[in-house]
Amino acid sequence: TSEVLCQGEKLLVRWKDNNIVTVATNMEEKYTETSVKRWNRHRRAFDNVQQPKCISRYNEHMGGVDLHDLQVVTYAPITLFPSPVPKSAFYQALAVQVHYNTLVDKISQDADFLQAALASTITVDNFTARLFKIHQQVLEEGKAQSIVLGLNRSDYMLDQKNEGCPTLKQIEINTFAAGLAGLTSHTPHVHRHILKVAGCVEESQRILDNNSAAGLAEAIAKAWELYGSKRAIVMFLVEENQINIFDQRCIENELWKRNISTKRKRFRDVSKTGSLDPDRKLFVDGQEVAVVYFRNGYMPQNYQSEQDWQARLLMERSLAVKCPDIGTHLAGTKKVQQVLSQPGVLEKFFPEQPQVVEQIRSTFAGLYTLDMGPEGDKTIEMALRTPGLFVLKPQREGGGNNLYGAELQQVLQEVKGSEERMAYILMDKIHPTPVQNILLRRDAPLKISTCLCELGVFGTYVSDLSLTKRERNGAEQVRAGHLLRTKSSEHADGGVAAGVAVLDNPLLL
Ligand code: ADP
Ligand code: MG
Ligand code: MG
Repeated sequence: TSEVLCQGEKLLVRWKDNNIVTVATNMEEKYTETSVKRWNRHRRAFDNVQQPKCISRYNEHMGGVDLHDLQVVTYAPITLFPSPVPKSAFYQALAVQVHYNTLVDKISQDADFLQAALASTITVDNFTARLFKIHQQVLEEGKAQSIVLGLNRSDYMLDQKNEGCPTLKQIEINTFAAGLAGLTSHTPHVHRHILKVAGCVEESQRILDNNSAAGLAEAIAKAWELYGSKRAIVMFLVEENQINIFDQRCIENELWKRNISTKRKRFRDVSKTGSLDPDRKLFVDGQEVAVVYFRNGYMPQNYQSEQDWQARLLMERSLAVKCPDIGTHLAGTKKVQQVLSQPGVLEKFFPEQPQVVEQIRSTFAGLYTLDMGPEGDKTIEMALRTPGLFVLKPQREGGGNNLYGAELQQVLQEVKGSEERMAYILMDKIHPTPVQNILLRRDAPLKISTCLCELGVFGTYVSDLSLTKRERNGAEQVRAGHLLRTKSSEHADGGVAAGVAVLDNPLLL
C-alpha cells in the first residue's frame, strides 16, 4: 500500500499485479472510480519521467512532458550538483552535536531556567504562552514517563565575515519535528550518479553516506523498547495536508523493518478516540501508544480548535514517550537560544567543562534581547541604525517568519515602545560564501543560480530520568547524519517545505 498526492488529493493506493485495486481519498476508505482513472492516466505519464541525470539529459526528459500538467508525485527538490563544504567546519558541526544533545536534554528538565528564560516572551506571545501552560500543568500533575527521547537538528551557516577560513555559526536548533532525515537519506546516490554521468568519478566517491532516517528510527526504537510493551505502537502525529509524507515514510519504514508498528494520526483523531487509562497509558483508536512522534504542532495554525489543544495536553500527560516532550519543545525556542548566548549561562549547564562551553559558544552568532529595559533599547537602536546586519526572529518555526532589511526596520519602529517587542529576538545576519548551482524543482525554470548553503546535523538521545545521574551518563548520545540545504541568494529566509531551499549534499573540500 502506498500513499500518493494526486491533484491535491491524498490517495491510498493498493497494488496487485502492477495495477491499482483500491483507492481511498484523504485517508478515508472511500472508493472513487474517477480517482483511479485519473491516477492511472497520470501514472502512465509519470512512467516516462525518470530522475534527472545531468542537465542535458534532464532537458531531454522534460522536453516531451509539461510538468505543470503532471500533477502527480514528483522528485524532491534537489540541487543538480553537490555543494562544496570545508571539511573542518563539517567535522566541527558533527563534534559539537553531542554537546548540543546534552544541552537540550538539560534545559528541557530545568523548569526554573525555562520559566526565567521565557518569562518576557510569554507575556506577549500567545502561542509560546499556551505551550508554557501545558508545561506547567504536566509538572503540577507530575510526569508520568521518565524516558526522554530527543531527535533534534542543529543548523549552521558558514560565516565569511572574517577573511580567510569561514566560521561555523548556528542558525537555530530544531527540537520539534526536525524534518528531512528521510529524504536526505536518499540523495547521496542521486548526486553520486549525476557526478558519474558528468564524468566526475573521483568526486562522486567523495559524497558521504548519510542514513539519517535509520539514525532517527534507531532512537525511536530504543525508546519503544524501554517503554516495554510489544503490542504498543509508535504514533506519528501528522498534519492535515501531508506535504512531508514521503520524508516521514522513510522513518516509518525503518521502524517496520525493526518489527515496530507505526500509525499516522492527526490531532482530531486523538481528540475523537484518545484516552488515558488509570496508569495514564495512552490509547488511540483502541491501540496503546508507546511513543508519540510529533511531526505537527509547532505552529499556531496547527491547532485548529480547542480540541486540538486538549489532545496535545492529553498526550503530554500520558505515559507514552513524547518526542519531543513539552520541556524539550520549549528548549528549542528562539528566545532560549538568545538567553543561552548571555555570559555565564552555558557555564551553569556545564559547570566543570569549560572546553564544552567553549566548543558550543564558538558556534554562536551575536544574539540580542528585545526585553524592556536598557539592554533591549540598545538592541533596537543598533538594529534601526544598521538593519542590513541583522535578522529579527519571532518565536515561530517552519521558515518564512523572520524579518530582514526594510521590513525589520518597519516592525521594530512599530513595536519599539511597547511590550510587543519581547515576542522577538535579534540575531547577527550570517553571510555564507555564495556558490553556483542549479536548483531542480518542479515549478522553477532551469538556470544557474548564486546559492547559499545551510548545514544541519541530526542528533538523537534516549535517557531515563528515573536512573541516577551516574547511570544516566551512559544514556545514548548519538549523531544521526547530516542535511545540506541550498537556496538561491535572492531569498533571505529558507526552508524546503517553505518552497525556498532544496536538498543538497556536501562535497567536502
Ligand atoms: P525556522 O525555524 O523558521 O526554520 P530559522 O531561524 O532557521 O527559522 O530561519 C529560517 C531561515 O532564515 C534559515 O533557514 C536561513 O536561511 C535564514 N536565516 C535565519 N537566521 C539567519 C541568520 N542569522 N543569518 C542569515 N540567514 C538566516
Ligand atoms: Mg526551526
Ligand atoms: Mg530553520
